[in-house]
Amino acid sequence: MSISLTPFQQALISWFHREQRALPWRKEYIPYQIWISEIMLQQTQMERVTLFFNRWLQEFPDIHSLALASEDRVLKQWEGLGYYSRARNILKCARTIVSDHDGIIPSDPKSLLTLPGIGPYTAGAIASIAYNLTTPLVDANIGRLFARLFNIDIPLPQAQKLLWQKAEKLVPQDQARSFNQGLMELGALICTPKNPLCPECPLSPFCIAYRDDLILSRPIPQKGKTITTIEMATGVLSHPQDKGRLFIQQRLADDVWGSLWEFPGGRLKHSESPEQAVIREFLEETGFSVRVDKKITTTIHHYTRYKVILHCFLCSLDLLDSDESPDPILYAAQEYRWVFFPELANFAFPAGHRKLIEFMTGAENSP
Ligand code: SF4
Repeated sequence: MSISLTPFQQALISWFHREQRALPWRKEYIPYQIWISEIMLQQTQMERVTLFFNRWLQEFPDIHSLALASEDRVLKQWEGLGYYSRARNILKCARTIVSDHDGIIPSDPKSLLTLPGIGPYTAGAIASIAYNLTTPLVDANIGRLFARLFNIDIPLPQAQKLLWQKAEKLVPQDQARSFNQGLMELGALICTPKNPLCPECPLSPFCIAYRDDLILSRPIPQKGKTITTIEMATGVLSHPQDKGRLFIQQRLADDVWGSLWEFPGGRLKHSESPEQAVIREFLEETGFSVRVDKKITTTIHHYTRYKVILHCFLCSLDLLDSDESPDPILYAAQEYRWVFFPELANFAFPAGHRKLIEFMTGAENSP
């Protein structure tokens, strides 16, 4: 027997059915696709996710093809989405689901929460969106929406328990898929961080912030969010006997940016110039004594809490004897390669290094 909807639930679900964006994972609600899209959507914009999602499905159409893939292949497909622990967890999770759950993604949030990389949000999303189970869901969009609807007067990070209680109370039986997506979609399209479109909002009759003219002060801003600037240097090193080949190394698995490839380098120490840093880093990470030939570029990349400035140089080996073997001793990496420039496209790099490669590609192609 289906339970009748409240006016609030009815207003939201009707709006969602009318206004929802056509997204690739909304065609058939296949659990594997819902799971991948939800992990991709964490920290990444929708338009970008749509592109990556379609590319991902061509490479890994189902959980079995994903579980059989190497970590290198998975990281390469993830390259450009950032926060690479998400990709490593996806692979671990796929292998666990194949080995322990016959390749079927569980529907029950308790089982989902035992899997790598799946927290309360993703468990709620899979249970409600993929399986239409009556399960609550809170993400950043829903948090902002609730702060306004219910006039929550504490910053959202401190209001998590209250937000989940509200979500649990509101989610209707048999319609969780449309209701939860409706909340998220409304937060993304109508109840936006700046200038929400209240006259078009189906929930305006229920919204306390709208009624009491408090929209500009909800949610309460969080104090003390600072961005730290980190300055780094890296070097593109040519092979001494074969100048066309460049040195890259693969970071250790448990490192930040674990298992991604990079040009050696690291953080500047106090009062050190970028050139001095790159020479020191090469020595510390590879045992190579290098000299800096010229500056290539400086890339800047913004993370949630960091801004990374990366000074990039062209380097050559400082060999006394040109026949000396260019084999490194790896102190900060698990593997290395000497590769030709076009081969760099086969490896996954962190954002700053990818920007450097894009810059060099542009410089190569420029007249
Ligand atoms: S009425 Fe405005 S503030 Fe309230 S939920 Fe709708 S869009 Fe958000």
